[in-house]
Formats: sequence, structure tokens, C-alpha cells
Amino acid sequence: MKNSSFRIAVLPGDGIGVEVMEACLAVLDALQKRVGGFALAYERVPGGAHHYRDTGDAFPESSFAAAERADAILFGAMGWPEIRYPDGTEIAPQLDLRFRLDLYAGVRPIRAIPGVAPALADPRAKDIDLVIIRESTEGLFASRGKGEVIADREARDTMVITRATSERLFDYSFRLAAQRRRAGRPGRVTCVDKANVFRSMAFFRKVFLERAAAHPGLAADTHYIDAMALDLVRKPWTFDVMVTENQFGDILSDLGAGLIGGMGFAPSGDIGDAHAMFQPSHGSAPDIAGRGIANPTGMFLSAAMMLDWLGARHGVGACSEAARLLEEAVDGAFGQDGVRSADIAGRHGTADVTRAVIARLA
Ligand code: NAD
Repeated sequence: MKNSSFRIAVLPGDGIGVEVMEACLAVLDALQKRVGGFALAYERVPGGAHHYRDTGDAFPESSFAAAERADAILFGAMGWPEIRYPDGTEIAPQLDLRFRLDLYAGVRPIRAIPGVAPALADPRAKDIDLVIIRESTEGLFASRGKGEVIADREARDTMVITRATSERLFDYSFRLAAQRRRAGRPGRVTCVDKANVFRSMAFFRKVFLERAAAHPGLAADTHYIDAMALDLVRKPWTFDVMVTENQFGDILSDLGAGLIGGMGFAPSGDIGDAHAMFQPSHGSAPDIAGRGIANPTGMFLSAAMMLDWLGARHGVGACSEAARLLEEAVDGAFGQDGVRSADIAGRHGTADVTRAVIARLA
């Protein structure tokens, strides 16, 4: 018999991470009741900037072990600008988790949600439905903690691109494009790079074109990062799956979130071959933390991605069905029930949005 009970490591973290996680667990409980056929057992795991302030340890090894043994990791947000390591950098266990668990594919869907006004006035903006895949274990971030400042005169960080990770990343991107094509999307992968200037990026593109040749049924093309910054504003509705280096993906995914209403609407999955972590794209938002106005939608949609991933990985149809229902509940709340969260100048706080989504699941 298929195992349909899953251990979920729950890492609320800091600021609004805690608030949107509480909302999300309430939604997941309602969803389990509604769909049945699968069970989620939560293990709450400490970590984050405030944990560092209180204990001197941002992410204890026991927390890492809990994340590692879980079937999936659900993450809120970690980091707080005023709490820093002695070298001036911020606490970011999410980066350590990506590196240590080899979560190389950072999957960031950018989909216009019905009822939420997109940033662009063009009527085609309501059709925005693309996925940015951000490589998440190397690229410029490979230099994290290793860069050097030489005699206060010069500083260096180095970009690292490996064939092994790039091949896995591109193959993942093509598999996702194939899956999307079956669902009616174009099935096209765009490699975003700076191959005209950097050897590392020319190599990235070369490996991309090799892997594209191994997926002949799918369209593949390439774009420079600067041109993509332009075209993501000019005609984002024309893209399907785009795959890029870590730092470029970091920047493009915030731009993408801006197109569909802001950070509060953007989910993500950090996917590896053995583990996966799901979290909203936003951070701990100190400017609104504690006020009950954080938009939990990105967190809900990240939980839907987690259910979809668990369903596909373990062959549990009830999880895939729950993922679909949760996305539909979010779309219905905003598109039909008139929910408007505070970040889009509405009057609905975290609890209101959560209630509306749960009501849709009843
Ligand atoms: P942020 O995403 O926390 O906030 C950026 C802006 O978006 C703020 O104005 C905030 O109010 C708004 N916002 C974000 N999420 C929202 C939501 N759900 N609802 C309504 N408004 C929302 O980015 P930041 O201010 O650059 O970073 C704050 C802290 O979070 C920093 O310590 C940073 O290091 C950390 N951070 C963590 C993660 C993560 O855990 N994955 C990601 C980004 C930033």
C-alpha cells in the first residue's frame, strides 16, 4: 500500500514568516478534512534571526536533522535586518538548507491571480503564467562566505557553474515544460544568461543547448539577462519556463512577483533529487510584522506546490487533488469573493484571507 502519511518539517522563522505559517497550517488542516486520503504530521523546527539572538545559534544541527529526515520542508521566512553575524552579513538558514540538501532547482511560478490587478495596464497581463527556475546551489552564491576583501582596497566574489548541476537543472526545466505543455501551456524553455560577456555564462548556455538537443519535442531559446529584465516588463505573457543562474534568478523572481501584485502572491519550491523545501518568495517583512496584515497567499500557494510534489513523488492522487483545490480556493477567494489583502490596498488582513480560503474549502 502506498504511504500517504507525510512528516512535514515546519520552520516558521521570523517576522511574518510566523504569521503566514500559522495561517497556512489552518488551511492545510481544512484541506486534509476536505480531501481525505493523506495525512500531514507537523514537526515544528526552531531557527532564524531571533533564535540566533536568543541562543547564539541560527539553525541548530537538531533543526537541520529534522529538516533532513522530513518528507518535505515548509518554511516561512528567516532573517531580520538588525540581527547580524559579526561579519555584517544576515542570518539566512534558507541558503544553508539549499546548499546542504542540494536543492538546486528554485522553482518560482509567476501566475496572475484572478481579481488581483497586475502591475501592467496591458490586458494581456491577466494571462501571465510563467515559471522562473533559479539555480540555487552555485552561481554567484557559491561565493557566499568565501569572498574576499583585500586590504580594504578590493573585493572579490566568484561565479561557479558546474556541468553536473547545470545538466540536472536544465533536465528539470525541460521536464517541467513537458508537464506544462500537457496542461495546455507552450512547453518552451528560455535560458537566461550573460553568455556574451562571461565564460561561465557561455558555458552555462553551451550545456543548456546540449540538454535542449536531448529534449527535441520541446522548444528552447536563449535570452540575455538585461534583455530579459526589459521583456519581463514589456511582454511577460509570452514566456513559459525560464531557467537561470542563482543571482539572476534571485532578482528576476522579485521582478516577476511585482508583476502579479507583489511578494505576498509569489510561492516557491526549492527542489532537489532527494529533498524539497517550500516557502513564499518574500522575507520576514519587519515593516509590517506583528500587525496582522501580511498576505498569506504566497505561503498557501507554496503549500499547494508541496502537496503537488508529494503527490507526484509518492503516487498519492489525494495530495495532487488537494494541491489543485487549494489553488482554486485562492483563485476563488480573490477572483469571486472579492478578497483584497492589505498589500494591494485592500482591507483584508491575514485572518480574513485565511478565512475566505478555508470557506472555499468547506
Ligand atoms: P521582504 O520580502 O521581507 O519585504 C519586502 C517588501 O514586501 C516589504 O515592504 C514588505 O512589507 C512587503 N511584503 C513582503 N511579503 C509580504 C506579504 N506576505 N504581505 C504583504 N507585504 C509583504 O524583503 P526585505 O524587506 O528585503 O527583507 C526583510 C528580511 O527578510 C531581511 O532580514 C531579509 O534578509 C529576509 N529575507 C528572507 C527571505 C527568506 O526567508 N527566504 C527572503 C527575502 C528576505
